[in-house]
Amino acid sequence: MNTIQPTSDRFDDQVIIPSMKNSILNSQMDLFGGQENLIALEPAMPGVYFDAPEIDLDYDIAIVCMSGGKDSFAALKYLLDRGFPPSKIELWHHLVDGNEGSTLMDWAFIDDYCVKLSKAIGIPLYFSWLKHGFEGEMLKNSSKSHEHIVETPDGLIELPRNGVKVGTRLKFPQQAASLQTRWCSSALKIDVGRRGITSQDRFVGKRVLFITGERREESGNRAKYNQLEPHAGDTLRKSKNPRKPRHIDAWRPVLHLREEEVWQILADWELVPPVPYRLGWNRSSCATCVFNSDRIWATIGEYLPDRLEAISEYERQFGTAISRKGLTVAERAKLVKPIEIDDKEALLQATSKEYTLPIFLPNGEKWKMPAGAFGTESSGAN
Ligand code: SF4
Repeated sequence: MNTIQPTSDRFDDQVIIPSMKNSILNSQMDLFGGQENLIALEPAMPGVYFDAPEIDLDYDIAIVCMSGGKDSFAALKYLLDRGFPPSKIELWHHLVDGNEGSTLMDWAFIDDYCVKLSKAIGIPLYFSWLKHGFEGEMLKNSSKSHEHIVETPDGLIELPRNGVKVGTRLKFPQQAASLQTRWCSSALKIDVGRRGITSQDRFVGKRVLFITGERREESGNRAKYNQLEPHAGDTLRKSKNPRKPRHIDAWRPVLHLREEEVWQILADWELVPPVPYRLGWNRSSCATCVFNSDRIWATIGEYLPDRLEAISEYERQFGTAISRKGLTVAERAKLVKPIEIDDKEALLQATSKEYTLPIFLPNGEKWKMPAGAFGTESSGAN
């Protein structure tokens, strides 16, 4: 495989390393003879940087949100490659379907895949979830959202939702960038991650780096994301004298990378491409993501028909299709041909809860770009 040219040099004259700000300021003041040349380097908001591909990694703990997709792997490897000690890293995986038996949205094997990955690399993994997951939240009917469950080094904690209002959903999240109407990302991931931080006193008095794997190339929405900013669980930048002082930075280390650079990171790491990409998906998010294209629905209908039927059943029940054009997933699946899947091993894995394939390439095996790489079929939040 050819080596892909990195793009990091284009940041040389745009980016500062936040905690090195003072030394850069001092040395550049010497060079240019005055502070007026340097005003552009100061962030407009404290701790917020639009571009921050390289930062001083002076943190006590790094939490890497591990979805099991290529970008979260790239984010983890990016951190490791910069010398951050693995002993200070933990992986967090949010269970989209919860842990109470629902199987509506996520890939069957994804939880076990994360467990086996954690064992393979020797970095601890903690699950967290909204009780009853996506399905439970979608079926809210004049009722309140369920509790959050957070796995900690001392066991599970269940967090009540005292502040939430009674409400009704009874429809799928909308295909929108807004997290208000596309409620799944916030209810099942962002809120759960925030409570994972605010509910654990082990983060008090610590500097914590909270890492996610979004990339600007994925969408116009993500193109606007900051690369480094205070996390919602940070208290030190919100108040002068917080009761529980926590310095929590949210860092998106691969925000600036192109897809080919991400694949190069996985290839160099000899990580077997995750199953969804081997099946032809370009993203590894929920298998039955509301953003799936017609062709992905056709592929699910062809190879995983029960999963298409489960979504169809809810569209019938709600009297509303996921698509804003009003076509149901079953109707959309009939419009186009499915992807032809020739990776039988990956297809077998797609229906099994236990992950049985290797995490890293077995000795002597060559890394292969998966069928879904560089695909244009939509599947996953943007
Ligand atoms: S992958 Fe799709 S369905 Fe799943 S949480 Fe994200 S946007 Fe929602």
